[in-house]
Order: sequence, then structure tokens, then C-alpha cells
Amino acid sequence: MYGAYEVSEHILTRVLEYGILNAGGEEMASIENTENITPTKSIRITEKSIARNSYETAIVYDKENNELFRVSQGDASAVELTQKQWAQAYGMTLTHNHPFDLTMERYGFENTSAFSSKDILRGMQYGIAEMRMVIGNERYSFCWVTPNYEKTIQFIEGLQKIEASASAVITDTKEAVDKAVNISINNQTTENKNRAYNAILEHYSTVVTETNKINQFIADNQNAGYIFKKEVL
Ligand SMILES: [Zn+2]
Repeated sequence: MYGAYEVSEHILTRVLEYGILNAGGEEMASIENTENITPTKSIRITEKSIARNSYETAIVYDKENNELFRVSQGDASAVELTQKQWAQAYGMTLTHNHPFDLTMERYGFENTSAFSSKDILRGMQYGIAEMRMVIGNERYSFCWVTPNYEKTIQFIEGLQKIEASASAVITDTKEAVDKAVNISINNQTTENKNRAYNAILEHYSTVVTETNKINQFIADNQNAGYIFKKEVL
């Protein structure tokens, strides 16, 4: 849910005000939930069914893995829960997909993504026991176990920095694609077409590289008190 590279100072400030441990209460995380990276069959099937959608769907499960409700937004890239839904989601498992890019696949790249700082902050703010995300053939899980206040702040700030830097680099390559494609449409020489093709490859390659950096950062900072897992869907 939420654009992968959006930065939210506002929510970070709120979490800082509450204090990490109070953001979701003591029930915010539990060890059992971290074992759910390969969950019950029903969740696996559901996650697979949304993993290739171009729009986002968020689904909340109760502690017995029954679906409580889902929120889907067919024409926008991000879904948002209402305050009432967030309250219902307290202590539960929330899974969602990040939009699948069919063009990326057509150019030979596996779709990949990363939790956004917004995903993580919202999970903390509303006491989500386990935050999950899927895209293409990937499944991710994020679960607070023993939050460390200082390290958590450093982690969130570091994540936002990496997101901003990734976003800037990816935007540059996207602009280069738009430019090269426009030129090749107006003047359809082989050279221009090749240039456009290479710009697209460069763009998707950059998306993969920058996404890997974000995932590596999340994997490397688990001493902030969370467990992060990634596996094949
Ligand atoms: Zn998300």
C-alpha cells in the first residue's frame, strides 16, 4: 500500500511523539506471527491472487487467519484504510500487494519491490502484528518483536533517506525513457529505436538495483527490534 518511495515526516513525528512502544501497545508484535512468512494455505492462495495486479489490495486477517476485510483501489496505485478499519486491524496481520508492472516483465525483468517507510510507520502506528507484502513471485514479512527506540528512529530515518535517493535516481531514468521514446516516435530510425530500447532497459535495471538497496537496508537493521523475511511466493 502507499507509493513505495513516499516520505512521510508527519507520521514519523507522530510515532516519535507516542514513543515506539506505545504506538501499537504491547500486543503490537508477537514471535508467533514472525513464523507466518509461509502462512496457511488460504493466505498463500489469496496473496498469489493479488500479486500480479496493477492496482493495490490490502487484506486484514484475524489471529486465526480468517479474512476480516479487504480494501481495493482499482484506479489508484495506493489503498488507504479508514480509521475504523485501522482500529479493526489492531494486533492482526495485514497483507497487501505492490502494483505489478507488466511492461517490466515483458522486458525480461522480474518485478521486485520493498516495504515503504509508510508501510512500516502505519504498521507501528496502528499496532499491526505482522505486515506482509507481495509482488510477482516475491513475498515479504515485517514484524516488530523487541523495538529499540533509538535504533528504530535511526532505522526509519535511514530508510526514508534511501527511499528518497532511490526515487530520485529512478525518476531520472524514467525521464530519460520518456524523452528517448518521444524522439523515436517522431523520428523512427533504427538508431532512435535502439536508444529508446536501451533507455527502458537502463530504467528497469535501475529499479531492480535501487529496490535491492532498500531491501538490503531493511535486512541489515533488524537490531532495531524487528524480523524481516523475504521468500519466493
Ligand atoms: Zn506497501
